Amino acid sequence: MATRLKDTDVAVVGLGAAGGIAALPLALAGVDVIGLEAGTWLSRRDFAPDELRNNYRAWPQSVQKANQEVPTHRPNASAPSSPRPPIHPMMNAVGGTSLHYWAQSWRLNPWDFKVVSETTRRYGASRIPRGSTVEDWPFGLEELEPYYDKVEYEIGVSGAAGNIGGRLDPRGNIFEGPRRREYPMPPLRGCGFTDVMAAAARTLGWHPFPGPAAINSRRYQNRSACMYHGFCNRGGCHVDAKNSTAVTTIPKAQATGRLKVVTRAHVLRIDVDDQGRASGVTYLSDGVEYFQPARVVLLASYTYENARLLLLSTSKAYPNGLSNRHGQVGRHYFSHAQTGFVTALFPWNTNSWYGLPAQGTAVDDWADDNFDHAGLDFIGGGNLWVYSDRRPIAAASMSTFGKTPKSWGSDWKAFIKENADRTNTAYLQKTTLPYEDNYLDLDPVMKDPLGFPVCRITADYKANERSINRFVQDKMERWYRDAGAIAVERGDLGTMGPTTHAYGGTRMGDNPDTNVVDRWGFSHEVPNLGILGASVMGTSGARNPTLTAQALAWRTAEHLAKNFNSIAPKRV
Ligand SMILES: Cc1cc2nc3c(=O)[nH]c(=O)nc-3n(C[C@H](O)[C@H](O)[C@H](O)COP(=O)(O)OP(=O)(O)OC[C@H]3O[C@@H](n4cnc5c(N)ncnc54)[C@H](O)[C@@H]3O)c2cc1C
Ligand code: SF4
Repeated sequence: MATRLKDTDVAVVGLGAAGGIAALPLALAGVDVIGLEAGTWLSRRDFAPDELRNNYRAWPQSVQKANQEVPTHRPNASAPSSPRPPIHPMMNAVGGTSLHYWAQSWRLNPWDFKVVSETTRRYGASRIPRGSTVEDWPFGLEELEPYYDKVEYEIGVSGAAGNIGGRLDPRGNIFEGPRRREYPMPPLRGCGFTDVMAAAARTLGWHPFPGPAAINSRRYQNRSACMYHGFCNRGGCHVDAKNSTAVTTIPKAQATGRLKVVTRAHVLRIDVDDQGRASGVTYLSDGVEYFQPARVVLLASYTYENARLLLLSTSKAYPNGLSNRHGQVGRHYFSHAQTGFVTALFPWNTNSWYGLPAQGTAVDDWADDNFDHAGLDFIGGGNLWVYSDRRPIAAASMSTFGKTPKSWGSDWKAFIKENADRTNTAYLQKTTLPYEDNYLDLDPVMKDPLGFPVCRITADYKANERSINRFVQDKMERWYRDAGAIAVERGDLGTMGPTTHAYGGTRMGDNPDTNVVDRWGFSHEVPNLGILGASVMGTSGARNPTLTAQALAWRTAEHLAKNFNSIAPKRV
């Protein structure tokens, strides 16, 4: 029998990148919030620049609930399960994965909100890939722009604007949608290598620009500027220059006296009252079960756990899982096509031993609908990103481009010694769409240590994603060769296993037959249940999801604060 705790206005499940944002507008509006977080607080001392610990041993110092529930994967419903990775990419701690993410902080571009209508207008409805369940978002970029702006200024984002109020500036991304003002900080500095790449892009007639990052390029809100020493591509920042929610919005919300953070709180389910409304959540802490009553529940536990918790929260009112009367929980799932790398070998040192993955040069000319697709066999495109980041173990595992036969021995050692600083791998994020047969559900066999099924991914890339991959790799190879590369290699796109960019499963849209949450992020079926994170996003664009998930989280929380009495059931 769970111990019943004191009532609260709002329970937020997961204080990561999205939940950690939502707490602030609620607390500022005077709403009492309890943040239930499976992990613990981590301190600067936990963020040593240690490649072995961070990149290979996956943060053994944090509470690794996630690693005990890594989703299973199969490419389609009749395929066998893929090998299960031992480590979950995401983090359990206050601040969630915003502690160790790369902090690239992109807005989506206007096309990403209107893939169906814009594709139909420009090329005809037949160009929507067969089997895709993609829909237009219920609103356009202009609706989200004020929230992008709020989050950029609240957490601190460095970047160069390419479009302020319709005025294009080639120092930034000329393909971005209109923004109201500059970034709060100038971009992170470039390095010799990214300058060479930017110059090569310009000779090709492309439009390179420094990408946006939630990392301080100068002192911001009393936190340090970045030192550019790197080792944080899967690690936290020991000087708080990386703007995780653990050092930005969460402490600010706590300072209002309205946010109470409960750590080591492993939420097991969302409970409902006899009218089918959310009544609170049940969680386990150090082996003891608690029931936290709440007038509103905001679920922010990352895409896989969002879907899993809903599917595990069965009741008389929702026998197939909470908010799942329409069978939409888990549908429209997709993971970003981030694989399919291109790696280059240069005849000169790039001097990339210093630096971090958010410090780089981007090209958006081949993303979204920024180019004519009339003669092509796909819609969408990719963002090309070259960056400065090198670590010893990763460097020693570089490709030898077929120039030495083995990955050991004296020839190999001589090759690595000469070339470890002469290689670069581009990060190519590509449009990915949802499809009818790509979905999440509960695994019928694999369980977590508590005996609950883990999330199962049934998904694979389709022809549209594979065509984009080839096209974008061609562009990237051209860019590298123009900059002087003497050898280039390409990787496969692979399949849609567990990932850091997982979208859908609780998609947002006006139609309750095809979407779990409404345009404000609240369940169509359970009006006092809000869902936060990329699980509500219906398209990926060609760039990382977090800033968009955070802008949506702020918008959902602000909507809740303004309409609290109509959304929250009356206290009895
Ligand atoms: C190495 C790496 C690099 C990345 N780089 C970028 C980047 O440059 N730009 C970008 O936009 N995105 C990046 N991402 C992705 C980014 O981290 C995610 O988009 C973002 O963190 C998702 O936010 P979220 O709040 O949904 O999940 P999280 O930030 O993971 O937060 C979820 C929180 O919920 C908690 N939780 C989970 N289950 C429960 C439960 N049952 N009970 C209680 N609490 C629970 C977790 O402990 C966690 O704190 C990267 C990810 C990784 C791993
Ligand atoms: S490179 Fe910058 S963001 Fe990364 S740990 Fe160092 S100071 Fe922090």
